Amino acid sequence: MSGRKDFSNSEEVPPIDLHGLVRELFPINRSLTGAGVRETLAILARHVQLEVREVPSGTAVLDWQVPLEWNIRGATVRTLDGRCLVDFARNNLHVVGYSKPIHREVSRAELAQHVHTLPQQPELIPYRTGYFADDWGFCITDNLWQKMQDETYRIDIDSDLSPGSLTYGEFFLPGELSDEVLITAHICHPSLANDNLSGIAVAVALAMRQAQRQRRLGFRVLFIPATIGAITWLAHNENHLDRILHGLVLTCVGDAGRFHYKQSRSGAPIDGAMAHVLRHSGHPHEIMAFNPYGYDERQFCSPAFDLPMGCLMRSVHGTFPEYHTSADNPDFVKPEALDQSYAVVASLLDLLDANRTYVRTDGRGEPQLGRRGLYRAIAGQKEAGGATQMDLLWVLNLADGKSSLLEMADRAEISFHRIQSAARLALEANLIREVIRD
Ligand code: ZN
Repeated sequence: MSGRKDFSNSEEVPPIDLHGLVRELFPINRSLTGAGVRETLAILARHVQLEVREVPSGTAVLDWQVPLEWNIRGATVRTLDGRCLVDFARNNLHVVGYSKPIHREVSRAELAQHVHTLPQQPELIPYRTGYFADDWGFCITDNLWQKMQDETYRIDIDSDLSPGSLTYGEFFLPGELSDEVLITAHICHPSLANDNLSGIAVAVALAMRQAQRQRRLGFRVLFIPATIGAITWLAHNENHLDRILHGLVLTCVGDAGRFHYKQSRSGAPIDGAMAHVLRHSGHPHEIMAFNPYGYDERQFCSPAFDLPMGCLMRSVHGTFPEYHTSADNPDFVKPEALDQSYAVVASLLDLLDANRTYVRTDGRGEPQLGRRGLYRAIAGQKEAGGATQMDLLWVLNLADGKSSLLEMADRAEISFHRIQSAARLALEANLIREVIRD
């Protein structure tokens, strides 16, 4: 088998400390645009060769426009005698994303119109954005807000919204074929760990991994601000989208919850591949049907693109109490969970790269196995957990020029690794040959 690669369900160790990277990126104030996104990409570029692209504000992209760039240096809420009650420097969730600058005294009643709290989770700070709102706001704990009973407060938001650019990162490794696998992670959230520093960290580690391997398929990773980033990339790459054979949005992959895989809109082959990997990983998981809510699969799977993309999560956005709050911090993200997510996607990438279709060189009847030393070969493999005689019979029967190795494995109810081992034996004995699709 050319470019021999073993598919294995063993837990592969990531090439970097994923939790360490999450902790390093956590304090940075990210948004749709701005210095925090660039700083984040600069840290990622220490690990992988990243192309950082800047798209000017005002650029028309599909039905949208690249927004003004937002930057913020600080923000506080103070009592009139100067006590600082809320400080952006302590937690960047304190300011609503894209808040316009403001420096003045406001009544408590006016401030109330601009304060967001979580009365049901009074000790947590919510995460809010107002990208297109032309407004300002603070996010604070409900406990603090209940204690703030002065008539007037001094507020300062030292921010600016001005023409600049939208920044995103793109990583690409060519393969032997022009077809490629696309992984995306959103980079527009400030200090939130599971959503989505977890996805960013796992995607970087996968890029480092793939760079060290022979690849049949190209491998592309996008680090993009959600929605507008995906729309911008799609608008600029419209002519190359047919190269994407498989795609995966990675988000919320660091918590201790079970895996959730949301299927592609079109029922693409990645759905079967991901289901196979999860089933054979032994990890608890759930497969979810496509729906038009969630992350950037909304853009990639819009009807005119309909890319073959699914979304891998552990806990699903909006269903865990830490979601979009200050409790989505590095403690909520578990090193073992990150490593497991990495290993699952690594297995998926190996499977996608190794999934081939074969046809029997002579499909009439069964070939004589003994004459070709195949019984002996199988006995040798069996001890190493490889293919069994039954696995080989499946390959020899299903090598009909139509069934992929993955389809064979699923039909035989065995792991891809075993069917791959059996196919290798059959290939070495010249009993099958690969069918190259055009
Ligand atoms: Zn989010």
